[in-house]
Amino acid sequence: MQQIDWGKLPFGYFQTDYNVRCYYRNGEWGKMEVSSSPHINIHMAATCLHYGQEAFEGMKAYRGKDGKIRLFRWEENAKRMQRSADGILMSKVPEELFHKMVTEAVRLNESYVPPHGQGAALYIRPLLIGTGIQVGVKPADEYLFMVFVGPVGPYFKEGFNPVSMQIVRDMDRAAPQGTGHIKVGGNYAGSLRASERAKEEGYAAVLFLEAKEKKYIDEAGPANFFGIKDNTYITPKSDSILPSITNMSLMQIAEDMGMKVERREVPVEELETFEEAGACGTAAIISPIGKIVDRESGKEYNLSKDGKAGPVSTELFKKLQGIQYGDEPDPHGWVSIIE
Ligand SMILES: *Cc1c(COP(=O)(O)O)cnc(C)c1O
Repeated sequence: MQQIDWGKLPFGYFQTDYNVRCYYRNGEWGKMEVSSSPHINIHMAATCLHYGQEAFEGMKAYRGKDGKIRLFRWEENAKRMQRSADGILMSKVPEELFHKMVTEAVRLNESYVPPHGQGAALYIRPLLIGTGIQVGVKPADEYLFMVFVGPVGPYFKEGFNPVSMQIVRDMDRAAPQGTGHIKVGGNYAGSLRASERAKEEGYAAVLFLEAKEKKYIDEAGPANFFGIKDNTYITPKSDSILPSITNMSLMQIAEDMGMKVERREVPVEELETFEEAGACGTAAIISPIGKIVDRESGKEYNLSKDGKAGPVSTELFKKLQGIQYGDEPDPHGWVSIIE
């Protein structure tokens, strides 16, 4: 195996030795297959290529001080992938199959799980696609579920330092009653234009507003948004937000820390009142937000006094990472060790 500089890993694709696959045909899931090829062979009329029948998950496996590898709340990812499948009429992957394939993909690539203490982890990408052929608009009758993995470093190159985000009003990520609440590729296709423009203009990501009224904060690019004030953790409630497992966990940790937790509509103007803000998701865990600029009006919201991450975001981050790496007690039973 090649030498890996664990401390300098980017967040990106990394070729490992194996991936696992399973096909749904004739009304049932087949046997799990192990492959050493990063390629898949599919029909040119597969529905994933034409009508967007594609859903994915993002998880991480963490190596503890004890050398053991831990998964974090995998059941939640399994359930969410079922909701995604349901939302775009794909066959659902049974929870046991999901677990077996994720576990096997990690085990087969064990040597790529970064050592403890580097801030790195093994990223796990489960993927479900319609492989059945259709030319008329219809769901497929065949599906492929696969899992590949690769070691990753921090998502934002800034690391645990505040990033800037941009509010846009001329593009939406998801329709109010669309597919924003499920993890499907179509949402990302629809947000690429806004997010690449934001990057060109110097921002880490777009802060999307709820599409109907454009009054409330919705999704923070590929992550959920939260704000902190008056010992309260506040996160938007909206039907077009993807329910983040990181956010769900941070809400619980905030409560455990004695904070109040509010999940409700968050008007844009409320940004003025936050002491801290952040974006959260498996990739970055927490990305503190230092500044938010409204692209249309030019209005700026400053959320970091000294250019550093705030104390509450820092504590939440440390606590959650501590649980994930096995350094802290796991009072809610979120972590499972891969034997
Ligand atoms: C995956 C994802 C998140 C984060 O979810 P986690 O379960 O915390 O990783 C947030 N928003 C969007 C749009 C996502 O696709």
